[in-house]
Order: sequence, then C-alpha cells, then structure tokens
Amino acid sequence: MSYFEKFLKTNQAYADLHGTAHLPIKPKTQVAIVTCMDSRLHVAQALGLALGDAHILRNAGGRVTDDMIRSLVISQQQLGTREIVVLHHTDCGAQTFTNDAFADQLQRDLGVDVHGHDFLPFTDVEESVREDMAILRQSPLIPDDVNISGAVYDVDTGRMTEVI
Ligand SMILES: [Zn+2]
Repeated sequence: MSYFEKFLKTNQAYADLHGTAHLPIKPKTQVAIVTCMDSRLHVAQALGLALGDAHILRNAGGRVTDDMIRSLVISQQQLGTREIVVLHHTDCGAQTFTNDAFADQLQRDLGVDVHGHDFLPFTDVEESVREDMAILRQSPLIPDDVNISGAVYDVDTGRMTEVI
C-alpha cells in the first residue's frame, strides 16, 4: 500500500472534523513565509498559524529563486500580502552537498550532466538567510515598503532566532 492510499483514508476523518468553511482567499496576517521543505519544520505549529493566516512557500533550503519570487509577486499583488519572513533552519539538507559533488553524483546515478547548475547549497545558515533577504530587497518585483525579516529555526529545540 502506498502512502497515498493511507492519505486518502486519513483525510476522510480530517474532512469530517474540518466541516465546511469559507475562509477568504487573502491571508489574514498578510504575511508570506519563505522556508525549507524540511519535514521537521512544522511551520504553522511553530509560528502559531491557523488556516487562512499566511502563505507558506517552501522549496529545498527555503531559497529565494525565480520561482519563489513568482509566488511572492502573486502573493503580494494578487492576494494582498505585505510582509515576508525568510525562515531557514539548522541541519538543512542544502548544507549536505556542494554543487560539484552533487553534479558528479547525478552524472553517475542518472547519467545527466548538470555541472554548472546551482542547486543553491549553503554552509552558513545565517548567511543564507541574509543572502535571500538581500535578493528580495534588491528585486524590483518586491516593493520597497514590504517588511522583510529573517530567522533560523532550530530543528532540535523548535526555537526560532532572528537573523539581523
Ligand atoms: Zn532544509
């Protein structure tokens, strides 16, 4: 049995509890959170967010890529968010490889040559938060009056610490 079948089953109980709600499409807090896909980071619980409160945009590392900016522009210009939080975390999978070593691995295992591609790994998690905040501040698609903050989440303790 795949997990998907289990999900379908579990969801039946969830939907029963959920009932019918008609929350607005625009997030209540007007916040978009840019964060990592890491399974140990339960963003809504960690930040006290309920359904309808915020946009949570996730990718490997929580990096600000072109597609992350695409989502942020839609979040802000279509759906009314006015604040961005960049939230990276300790022990990130994006800290476990270098571009060259990963490209070697993919060449070996998949027969694909992606040398020269940037998978956006990092070593210093505070530095990666600062880099991504800087990319947002420099983007012409993100208005200057948007509040941009950054933080690191500790996957061992659940504690979030601001990055200045
Ligand atoms: Zn991560």
